[in-house]
Amino acid sequence: MCNRVKQVSWHHVRDEVARADASLGSILNDLHAFKSQAGKSSDPAAFLYRVQYEYGSLIVNKGRFLSPACDLKEECVTCKNLKAATLNSPIPLAVILENSVEVFLDSWSKEDPRHTPLRLIPAGEMFGTFETLDLLLGIPSPQPPWSVSAGARSVWVLLPLGNGRLEAEIGWEEDGEKPHWEIVKKVAKSNWKVSILVFPEPLIRSMTPEDRLYRLILETGWKQSSALRHSALNQANFDSDLLKKIQSKCHPQLGPVYQLATVRHLLEIASGSMPGFQPFWKAAKPAGPFDEFEKAMTAIWKRCFQRKPGFDYSPIVLQPGHLSSTEDSVYYSFRCPSLVGLKMPEDVRHFNMIPWYAKRNLADHPEINYFAREGEFSGAFNDEGFLVSDLCSSGNGDNPRKLYMDSPFLVAGARIVGK
Ligand SMILES: [Zn+2]
Repeated sequence: MCNRVKQVSWHHVRDEVARADASLGSILNDLHAFKSQAGKSSDPAAFLYRVQYEYGSLIVNKGRFLSPACDLKEECVTCKNLKAATLNSPIPLAVILENSVEVFLDSWSKEDPRHTPLRLIPAGEMFGTFETLDLLLGIPSPQPPWSVSAGARSVWVLLPLGNGRLEAEIGWEEDGEKPHWEIVKKVAKSNWKVSILVFPEPLIRSMTPEDRLYRLILETGWKQSSALRHSALNQANFDSDLLKKIQSKCHPQLGPVYQLATVRHLLEIASGSMPGFQPFWKAAKPAGPFDEFEKAMTAIWKRCFQRKPGFDYSPIVLQPGHLSSTEDSVYYSFRCPSLVGLKMPEDVRHFNMIPWYAKRNLADHPEINYFAREGEFSGAFNDEGFLVSDLCSSGNGDNPRKLYMDSPFLVAGARIVGK
């Protein structure tokens, strides 16, 4: 039997869906295809697929749906059925039952190591809505450029990972080129996983506009496309004003285009449409086995560096997060930027000046505060500064954390609070 994919009928997963989101549970319960299911269990529209993915595995790879790596490999009949049921849609409609997934652009490469998170989707929410709407409305669906991972791949671990002793201890070779989620997976040794419920194509095609699910897909798709639609509007409206301002106060190494994209991205983070980064214990739910990683890594660290004075750092994991309330705060790093599409100019040296330029162009945005290792914004690193109070508070009730201040992520950046 397949250890990752289960072919299930609605009544098998009804309670689980209701736990993830009660109103979604009731909407699905009303679906015509499920109501007329009794006695016709051979109908392909009657089945759903409950699929499990390990932390970090890809659910969608650059616009192509992937079934999980199961133990039976090519021989697996259930996995073959899942593939057949999702053949015509680049991304099938799915509901997240347990934990969360990250939608991102797979921009990480050896030459240009950076994350581009687009959206973190929690349990109870759907993905694949754009592609499903295209299918329902008969619009040709181009292969989308994004990927989806089980949990967040866009994570930063604030620790001197390039230390030789540490590399030998855990068999990790940090050359500044490997994404940090890989070390999380390696060290955490956790069975943290994401469960999703995939809707096969015959079921989608059997839906009618009278089904409440049809309406929900339309609503969800509209909400999820908000960032995409607004970025087009922003470009038309305020970019010309902002660009004028930036041209008079332009960081010499960033150039006006990159600087404009950066300040616009900061505003999108402030509006909650794009994610920033936050310590995982401040998120509603960790998007990976970060708690397990932190415990395992702390033990390894003590074993390696107990006798090394001043080297008692805590492993701090930053994950993507959307601002949603005034209590929230997230970070953006100018040294490790998560801008969509644009690569950082190669000759940037004076990172501590970027906050200075950003602040002058966004003077009417008090929700954005800045930090830099040197100069005007270095106060954030002091005992009373926000970096120390945010990242060193002991969220899990353990010992106070000690921040690795030389982390590239902390060279210069911004902290954005909810409005
Ligand atoms: Zn299988």
